[in-house]
Amino acid sequence: MFYGYGFDYTYLLVLPAIILAAYAQSKVSTTFNKYLRVRNSYGYTGYEAARRILDANGLQDVPVERIGGRLSDHYDPRKRILRLSQDVYGSNSLASVGVAAHECGHAIQHSEGYAPLAVRNAIAPIASFGSQAAWLFVIAGFIFNWLGLIDLGILLFAAAVAFQVITLPVELNASKRAIALLESNGLVPADEIEPSREVLRAAALTYVAATFAAILQLIRLLVIRGRRD
Ligand SMILES: [Zn+2]
Repeated sequence: MFYGYGFDYTYLLVLPAIILAAYAQSKVSTTFNKYLRVRNSYGYTGYEAARRILDANGLQDVPVERIGGRLSDHYDPRKRILRLSQDVYGSNSLASVGVAAHECGHAIQHSEGYAPLAVRNAIAPIASFGSQAAWLFVIAGFIFNWLGLIDLGILLFAAAVAFQVITLPVELNASKRAIALLESNGLVPADEIEPSREVLRAAALTYVAATFAAILQLIRLLVIRGRRD
């Protein structure tokens, strides 16, 4: 881990996750771009699809806003706002309605009190702190030769890993809801559902890759700590 110790071979542990993450990123962006060019037959924009789904599910009070960035779409559970990126908000492509429906899936999870989302939101603050501060504690622990500090760092990182793990069912469930919502609200004809599913499947792979990376990082930390004993 320190340069003075020569090359750190534990880095190799994380390599498969880095490769998978790179593959997932390119897959999601090529799939998204492909279907961003295909207009959906009914002509709904991402905004219109989201508005219809939210209204149909009693969420008239959840606003749909436009934000900058690419694939920056998300539902903010604290403010109860659904935010769609430029590409999604105003475009009537197959990709746009798929992503918009996915974010609506999160808004509905929230309103229903879907348990994995509640757990995820509850551990979010500690996980966010943990993912940033964990390595600082570990490195400080090595510098001061203080095992307790290393363990605290590992514990913090474990919280970040738990967050990634619980994110998986939340995301997969939102995508499953999205497909059902597109169909039940008549937003996309049956023969145009598959592309939406493809976009959402590619997006799910990025979450799988992130979780895989987090787990391997945790194993790496444990290996490094084990050397100290
Ligand atoms: Zn999501």
